[in-house]
Amino acid sequence: MKTYDAIIVGAGHNGLTTAAFLAKSGLDVVCVEKNDYIGGATVSREMYKDWLYSSCSYVCSLLRPEIYRGLELHKHGLQVTPFGGSCQFMENGDYFGSYHDPEAAHRERARFSRHDADAYERYSADTMRQCRFIRDQLLRTAPDPTSFKPKDIKGLYEIGMKFMEMGEDAMYESIRFWTMSVAEYLDEYFETDVIKTTYSGSGIIGTALGVYSPGTAYVLLHHHMGDVDGNVGSWGVARGGMGAVANSIAGAFQMYGGELRTESGVDKIMVKNGRATGVALESGEEISARLVVSAMDVKRTFLNCMDKSDLPETFYKRVENFKLRGTSGKVNIALDGMPTFPAIPEGSTLYHGDMHFIDSMERMERAYDDWKAGTWSKDPYVDMVIPTLTDPTMAPPGKHFMSCFVQYCPYEIEGRAWTEPEREAFGKTIIDQIANYSPDFKSLILHYEVRTPADIEDQIGITEGNIFHGELTMDQLLFNRPVPGYAQYRSPISGLYMCGSSTHPGGGVMSAPGANAAREILADLNRTNTVPENFGDD
Ligand SMILES: Cc1cc2nc3c(=O)[nH]c(=O)nc-3n(C[C@H](O)[C@H](O)[C@H](O)COP(=O)(O)OP(=O)(O)OC[C@H]3O[C@@H](n4cnc5c(N)ncnc54)[C@H](O)[C@@H]3O)c2cc1C
Repeated sequence: MKTYDAIIVGAGHNGLTTAAFLAKSGLDVVCVEKNDYIGGATVSREMYKDWLYSSCSYVCSLLRPEIYRGLELHKHGLQVTPFGGSCQFMENGDYFGSYHDPEAAHRERARFSRHDADAYERYSADTMRQCRFIRDQLLRTAPDPTSFKPKDIKGLYEIGMKFMEMGEDAMYESIRFWTMSVAEYLDEYFETDVIKTTYSGSGIIGTALGVYSPGTAYVLLHHHMGDVDGNVGSWGVARGGMGAVANSIAGAFQMYGGELRTESGVDKIMVKNGRATGVALESGEEISARLVVSAMDVKRTFLNCMDKSDLPETFYKRVENFKLRGTSGKVNIALDGMPTFPAIPEGSTLYHGDMHFIDSMERMERAYDDWKAGTWSKDPYVDMVIPTLTDPTMAPPGKHFMSCFVQYCPYEIEGRAWTEPEREAFGKTIIDQIANYSPDFKSLILHYEVRTPADIEDQIGITEGNIFHGELTMDQLLFNRPVPGYAQYRSPISGLYMCGSSTHPGGGVMSAPGANAAREILADLNRTNTVPENFGDD
């Protein structure tokens, strides 16, 4: 039987990233994927003829530019176009628009409050300072503070220096920032409810936390630290949907000689004498390799695909305790034409950005209360984008694809499985909320797809459908992600590595966990590193 140098389990964008960098170094690599398509949560699927649905992720910003260049993704068809602005519809018929143009943005904030318009510059500078600190850590392995290895000591020293460079005030502020709620953070700058609501959305996306929960200020950062073409904080649309990201990485992987096998779900990671020896597929086939790299989330890897007896008890317990809760849903809608939104002027750039339908911090918190009570938000935070305004290739001419990300939606309804009528009612909640602001919207719907966290778990294989493969709270970041002592992509089993979003620096279409894992694996194999250097924070 053939023995590969490496098997990568899961062809999500991180698995493919690790696979590509290992193949680039000349290793014989196979990537096995359970579905008949690749991409995981970074996928475009032709759900109906000529309609491409970005079924899960829908906007791009976090993808590290080093990876884009290192794997020459432009040569494999990846093109990301920035989209314009953002809009918050208000119950009183007004709206609050966020514009790229600084003057228009200032005027709009001043329409609500001169104080808030003036405070924005300070808010933006303070948030950017935190961004620069964290951006620099993304394409690095988190140093282990308990280790006396020279590279960990050097890593800790560099973080310390970076921290000092922020200046005295920012050093004090950082500790507060990393642990405070997004609501408290915004209260320190703004007085207008709708403005605070607009900026708070990024603090709760994908989390099991509300706007008043400690730790949500950091999550806000997680959505601000990306860029499109060097514009930090900007978001864009990948031409052909988010699957274009995974497809381009897969293109690079195959160009370096890698082998991609779909419909090859892994049942067990095989271990012999404390060492990973390969995988057993659901079909019964066994594949051998010198090392196995799992891109599945940490719970699926160790609790579902391994024998408990192969793992140290404390490690197993810590994996069980890792917080990975389903909180987000998705409704993808095909439209016969462009819906109108009478509140905003015709031809406004705001149509090209993301739209939201909730206008107060109280409504945001109540949306979370529903999730805590075990049901979907009846007045949800919806992040709605119409990518076809920027990329018409996703729908037939004149028609539009609408992506609605929904916060909050539970994995189970009051502790039991979803029923079909409940799935339908969840979809209807979103459609009704949008229809409140667009009178012709409902009449334009051709077909749509409703995805609860349980559907995401079922189709993508992410435990509880958690979009980040685990909460992005301080207890699960840096050297604690996913498990203290195992934050450097290795596991207690020799030859078994992790490269998915449960590892540092977490979820989002970033490719950083996959690239960091590849660097560590190549170092263990004493091979030349193929992963590009961190560009730094600029
Ligand atoms: C609804 C939703 C919306 C999102 N929106 C955005 C967004 O707009 N922008 C953004 O940046 N991020 C977004 N995210 C987050 C982002 O998409 C994910 O964090 C990221 O794609 C995870 O990538 P990954 O490669 O680590 O894992 P995954 O994409 O989960 O890939 C894991 C792969 O492993 C496969 N697999 C699982 N089990 C097995 C098995 N037993 N055998 C073989 N293969 C297996 C899966 O099929 C999958 O292909 C969103 C996520 C979701 C779910």
